[in-house]
Amino acid sequence: NFRCRSAFKLLEIDDQFRLLQPGYSVVDCGAAPGAWSQVAVQRVNSSGTDAELPRGTVVGIDILNVPPLEGAHFLSCHDVTDPATHAKLLELLPGGRAHVILSDMAPNASGFREMDHDKLIVMCLSLIDLAEKILQPGGSLVCKYWDGIFVQKLQKKLLSVFSSVRTLKPNASRKDSAERFFLARMYRKPVK
Ligand code: SAM
Repeated sequence: NFRCRSAFKLLEIDDQFRLLQPGYSVVDCGAAPGAWSQVAVQRVNSSGTDAELPRGTVVGIDILNVPPLEGAHFLSCHDVTDPATHAKLLELLPGGRAHVILSDMAPNASGFREMDHDKLIVMCLSLIDLAEKILQPGGSLVCKYWDGIFVQKLQKKLLSVFSSVRTLKPNASRKDSAERFFLARMYRKPVK
């Protein structure tokens, strides 16, 4: 009983790569209605279901309202790209650090494929700024994008701060959609 079928994409990705470990802190960007957060809560044990395992943290963010979920803290009506949201995240995360940033964010599709692609890439790029503020060295990022001309630019940026970047197309993602995910692992803070 997930809130949305999108849960199966994250389950598939996590079954393959084991990103979400008990005790981990996770930020879920574009969390509404909350299905990815449900998966994250289970996997990091943030509701303390398994008393033997360390208890993790899940913080979800959306510009829309996200209905409450045990084990998750939601920043409803918050924009992921807004620095004020970043400040709140720093307070909510233990030690101000996340092990994993998830993003299934998407703008409202205008129907103009290139424009939507461009908008989503800009949102993904903002996640790299967020990572610099909150992502633990060695941490991971999963972000959805729509295929198009600016993908290489995003990939290059990701590769400048993550040791490994790969493209995923889960079976649960419709074959005929332009939807893809980047899985970026082994974060290293940029040297400045
Ligand atoms: N992963 C979610 C789940 O499993 O329930 C579904 C996410 S839905 C495909 C994309 C979400 O991104 C929408 O709820 C939308 O409001 C949100 N979104 C779009 N732009 C955003 C932004 N700038 N900040 C936060 N959320 C945003």
